[in-house]
Amino acid sequence: MANSRPLTNVQQRDVNAILHPYTPLHKLQENGPLVMGHGKGVYLYDTQGKEYIEGMSGLWCAGLGFGDEEMIEAATEQMRTLPYYHLFGGKGMEPAIELAEKLKEIAPVPISKVFYTSSGSEANDTQVKLAWYYNNALGRPKKKKIISRVKAYHGVTIMAASLTGLPYNHMGWDLPVEGILHTDCPHYYRFGQEGESEAEFVARLATSLRDMIEREGPETIAAFIAEPVMGAGGVLVPPASYFSAIEPILREHDIMIIADEVINGFGRTGNWWGSQSVGMTPTTISAAKQLTAAYSPLGAVLVPEDIYQAYVDHSAQIGTFGHGFTYGGHPVGCALGVKAIEIYQRRNIVDYVRGLTPLFEARLAKVKDHPLVGEVRNCGLMGAVELVADKATKRPFNPAHAVGPALARFLEGHGAVLRAVGDSIAFCPPMIITEDELNELFNRFELALADTEAYVSTGSLR
Ligand code: PMP
Repeated sequence: MANSRPLTNVQQRDVNAILHPYTPLHKLQENGPLVMGHGKGVYLYDTQGKEYIEGMSGLWCAGLGFGDEEMIEAATEQMRTLPYYHLFGGKGMEPAIELAEKLKEIAPVPISKVFYTSSGSEANDTQVKLAWYYNNALGRPKKKKIISRVKAYHGVTIMAASLTGLPYNHMGWDLPVEGILHTDCPHYYRFGQEGESEAEFVARLATSLRDMIEREGPETIAAFIAEPVMGAGGVLVPPASYFSAIEPILREHDIMIIADEVINGFGRTGNWWGSQSVGMTPTTISAAKQLTAAYSPLGAVLVPEDIYQAYVDHSAQIGTFGHGFTYGGHPVGCALGVKAIEIYQRRNIVDYVRGLTPLFEARLAKVKDHPLVGEVRNCGLMGAVELVADKATKRPFNPAHAVGPALARFLEGHGAVLRAVGDSIAFCPPMIITEDELNELFNRFELALADTEAYVSTGSLR
């Protein structure tokens, strides 16, 4: 769907100067970017002054919306006190300590230490290195493979992109690297077989995971990584019995369970952690995004005491623990993390998300009968509407027609931002959204859905 309008000056400057991440580059030349100017609450304004409701919290991260004065204040104060220091070579600073203490307090499983990164990708990259280091420490040098899942999203560094199970992150990039395995995606609507019940689907996935472990040899597998609710794969909520079916198999083979809570963490799913919403019991945790409500980049890896002790023993043998990022634990990021958690606690964000969820579900249910909608799904305040060419058979649209992205563009016309993950339209509004704002987001979405139906019919895209 090409934009017939010429690019504005700011769009042209952007196209001339920026290599855009995660973008069909050939189309950007034609359509130009949507250049945002400023934001307040759940509203954004582009450089032309047009208003948008932000339905995705940016990239699933701006959970407190834009322009929160307390956050601005916390950043300013930390900038004045100590704008930068680090944790290398035994140095420390107060905000990093305070945030680590808070994370230990709210973690869903007993946690002993926090390792800081600047992003979610770095957190997951670190997870793999830590799993290797741990198994070296225990004298198990062969136990190094990591099991991830089809449709997982764990980031884009070489290792995190390898863990990711999406074609765009592998095709053209010589990935995944060796030693990364992908087991089945627990999305029943898409991957359940004809006539298979949800319980049978879960049993099949558990058997398939066991077969993979036995085929590869459990002595070669270090860890299993999973987002409790998969985000960038299309907001895929696992069946309720999924984690309780697969975790015993992993534990039986001494395979560490890594929860990637980068999107799910800090209230998004109606609990502090996504793992609490889906019955997952992780060994270690990756966090980022809503950790600072996106007011600053920051990521973290949370590890339990027994694993930490193995690092200490190994370090005693081989020397310095040789891993760390210049900006891991940046004091401004940590001060913002402390403030964000304080705000989430004071405003009872978990209860607030739970209170909004029935309205969110009712508005999703309202579009479920639409002829283009195959499935609606959600966990707390993250959800998706999956568009299909044929509702009865679940047949997807030809990806070349880019129907999901077309809806996202129509929606921009109506003044709202959602993200098309293929033909699934993801919803992840700031957790502070009010009922009226949420209704307005869905009203605008319904207009875009009607436009998309007309577009599909006119172009005979089915
Ligand atoms: N894990 C998950 C579950 C994510 O959704 C993302 C980012 N969307 C990442 C990791 C990577 O985080 P970052 O972009 O901060 O590297």
